[in-house]
Amino acid sequence: MKFAKRLQQIKPSPTMAMAAKAKAMLAKGIPITDFGLGEPDFNTPDVAAEAGIRAIQQGFTKYTPPSGTEELKEAVCRKLKIENNLDYDKKEIIVSCGAKHTLYNIAQVLFERGDEVIVPAPYWVSYPDQVLLNDATPVIVETREEDQFLMTPEQLKRAITPRTKAVILNYPSNPTGSAYTGKHLEALADVLLDAPVWIISDEIYEKFIYDGVAHTSIASLNPELKRKTIVVNGVSKAYAMTGWRIGYAAGPKEMIDAMGMVQSQSTSNPTSISQKAAAAALLGGAPFIKTMVDEFDKRRLLIVERLNQIPGIRCSRPMGSFYVFPNVKGLMGTGYKAHQINHSTDLATFLLEEGGISTIPGEAFGIDGYLRLSYAVSRDVLNEGLQKLKNAILKLS
Ligand SMILES: *Cc1c(COP(=O)(O)O)cnc(C)c1O
Repeated sequence: MKFAKRLQQIKPSPTMAMAAKAKAMLAKGIPITDFGLGEPDFNTPDVAAEAGIRAIQQGFTKYTPPSGTEELKEAVCRKLKIENNLDYDKKEIIVSCGAKHTLYNIAQVLFERGDEVIVPAPYWVSYPDQVLLNDATPVIVETREEDQFLMTPEQLKRAITPRTKAVILNYPSNPTGSAYTGKHLEALADVLLDAPVWIISDEIYEKFIYDGVAHTSIASLNPELKRKTIVVNGVSKAYAMTGWRIGYAAGPKEMIDAMGMVQSQSTSNPTSISQKAAAAALLGGAPFIKTMVDEFDKRRLLIVERLNQIPGIRCSRPMGSFYVFPNVKGLMGTGYKAHQINHSTDLATFLLEEGGISTIPGEAFGIDGYLRLSYAVSRDVLNEGLQKLKNAILKLS
């Protein structure tokens, strides 16, 4: 039996591989503190959960239009207008089975052999693989810690060639927590305005932004830019609804129609029940977000402070998302028993096996010398895990 060649191009999500290893250890009775999580630890707010229950009880359990219900599209339009200063018509919105599915639809519509897609690193693990699955070539632009892991306008300009089809921006970022804002966003926009390139703007962490900074969508900077941007968002992170699988995109009607065609021949509509819940979340979930993000902010300050007290680790304070991305280069060249630490993968393996702490190595996101830690865990777990982390690191010499 032979599988299609495209399968050889991709790998299972490395974040999930690490999670599987941690789970196997837990099953053996070894206590693991999990800093690898990529989802909020909060429950879905009642306002959304109750709408989902009502949908089932009232028999809203049949096919909906393949690209989503009018009700949810309306809620998305309202949200984009009020929160992002973006005017879209319902015909310019598509709802999919999670933002990851939204991004995959975009890849199916846009990418083909010979196309280049600019992906700044550190990147979310699925971007390069979705590009590869659609026969195109990811062009990785490595950003620098001293630039807060933000792609500079010069780097972007250099990466654009006649083959460039799109650039994928994710702000606030998974894994670094950095975000394009203000002048920086405008400078990137200036470069993109002149280039015949699609902008895929993944704004799934927009609500997780701290220190009084406001999220701005690149599409809102000017109408010409809006015509070449696909805004991607969803309810997974902002409303702790990862399992409900609802994401959406806003963009030019031809683009949205094309995505709708792909979706109508693949998944059809996202779950009817989840669409009801998502609409309710968008309309009434603001108080929930405030409570959750206030708590994440406290954890962020706590984890940054504690990490910086550990020798060999340097952690800057990220502006957004719920991850920190500390520099661990100071620990390279150390070792303990059979563990020789030369890359962040070695360190993550050591921390898991010797310390009982699950983290994700930077290599998973295209860069060595860093770890990703999620603070989507209670402050008690954070405190305990950070103590374990420190104890483990102190064993290295
Ligand atoms: C979690 C995540 C997504 C996808 O979320 P869905 O659960 O599929 O809606 C997309 N982009 C980034 C950067 C993410 O971290």
